[in-house]
Amino acid sequence: MNVLLTGGAGYIGSHTAVEIMRAGHGVVIADDLSNASEKVIERIEKLGGKKVYFYKIDVCDKAALDGVFALHDISAVVHFAGKKAVGESVAQPLMYYRNNLDATITLLEVMQKHSVNRLIFSSSATVYGIPKTVPVDENAPRGCNNPYGWTKYMSEQIMRDACEANKDLAVVLLRYFNPIGAHESGVIGEDPEGIPNNLMPFIAQVAVGRREMLGVFGDDYPTHDGTGVRDYIHVVDLAQGHVAALDYTENNSGALAVNLGTGRGYSVLDIVKTFERVNGIEIPYRIMPRRAGDAAVIYADSSLAKTLLNWEAKRDLEDMCRDTWNWQKNNPNGYRS
Ligand code: UDP
Repeated sequence: MNVLLTGGAGYIGSHTAVEIMRAGHGVVIADDLSNASEKVIERIEKLGGKKVYFYKIDVCDKAALDGVFALHDISAVVHFAGKKAVGESVAQPLMYYRNNLDATITLLEVMQKHSVNRLIFSSSATVYGIPKTVPVDENAPRGCNNPYGWTKYMSEQIMRDACEANKDLAVVLLRYFNPIGAHESGVIGEDPEGIPNNLMPFIAQVAVGRREMLGVFGDDYPTHDGTGVRDYIHVVDLAQGHVAALDYTENNSGALAVNLGTGRGYSVLDIVKTFERVNGIEIPYRIMPRRAGDAAVIYADSSLAKTLLNWEAKRDLEDMCRDTWNWQKNNPNGYRS
């Protein structure tokens, strides 16, 4: 079958495109390249072993999106397209709601017009806000700390409502924990614009000499070493979770929320130490104040994915650190290298 990936040129989208192709499907990508490089398309083709149909369009452009559905026999969609910088969303909330919700609604309208009834959504553990207890399962209370998170929360709700109205529609809401790492080939990986907001790309840029030192946001959390604990998941495991979710939509309908995590928590300093050990590189760091809105500890109850999607993460933290560095050292300036 042919699968449309909106935002398929981005970090998670590109890795997912490769895994979908390796599962035997055709891939069509719609991406406006606002936060991605066109170079990634040929790299996806190389890793996936066949042609990718690429359209440089904004998913909010209904006529353009409709044109893609008219040209290709699309059976399912994986929806990644959206803005994702937490700080920027606080500064420009209306732009975030306009863009991310418009993308979701436009996509659902065009899917409905073309009778496409299988959708995987790139949601996030951010919908759990600061959890009261861990591990977090899919029924944990939800509520967000920033407009970016609310756009994920609201998009989930819009998709649930669409499923209520259309009993043929199948949607899997994948709530990602902390995706890191890169394809083991070192050919595709994470390439953030400007100063990285997230931990692992920041460490990778320190390692390659683009940044002097990592700032560790707080060492007084109630955790084993005082630094924040997260559930880091290898991006290729995450990508394979999308293939499992696509398979699930073949014989099911309705909306299903599923965590994609490993079920294990690591602290910021665990990540730094493992990166240093596995790659033989020192990562200078200094302790900084806590970052507003950060939880002390969050990690997944990942059992539902195993039960319903027959998926579980296979790669460990050493794999994640090794593959991150393999990508970064081969591409010191990302896709601009
Ligand atoms: N973090 C840090 N320094 C950085 C970026 C992140 O100490 O430059 C910490 C952050 O406080 C959190 C963890 O690393 O405890 C993961 O942060 P990230 O932004 O990667 O993901 P989040 O879980 O916040 O979405």
